[in-house]
Amino acid sequence: MRETNCIFCKIIAGEIPSNTIYEDGEFKVILDASPATKGHALILPKNHCADIYEIEEDVAARVMKLAKKLACHMTETLQCDGFNLVQNNHEIAGQTVFHFHMHLIPRYKNAKNNDILKWTHENFTPEEMKEICDSLKQ
Ligand code: AMP
Ligand code: ZN
Repeated sequence: MRETNCIFCKIIAGEIPSNTIYEDGEFKVILDASPATKGHALILPKNHCADIYEIEEDVAARVMKLAKKLACHMTETLQCDGFNLVQNNHEIAGQTVFHFHMHLIPRYKNAKNNDILKWTHENFTPEEMKEICDSLKQ
């Protein structure tokens, strides 16, 4: 299942070149073309789905299994000091390619810019926190 005009579907089909570090029947893992750090990679499910809302639960579970395997392999190979898994959904959350992908981002103590994922903090009163908590309980 592919989507016309989806750049990652084109990469998966081999119509656009990529630096592929892993491939199986269900996933392709490529180096990010504008890496945040050395080795920054993306797990792409081969079946097109836009985001976390669309991806099937069992595919999402296998994405995480593969992320775990690759994080260990990449950490050993690249000798990085830490690792981020990042997954953006919708434009407001920073998604720019609307084909689900998991970022694999090796982190290095001696990197020039280690602020790539720093965010500021919001304050909520204890009452607001309780209300948020109550609204989210399943
Ligand atoms: P996001 O902002 O979470 O949607 O991430 C999309 C990522 O895809 C960005 O980090 C881009 O650098 C990366 N990207 C876009 N086009 C390509 C491409 N042709 N090959 C590899 N990575 C790409
Ligand atoms: Zn796609």
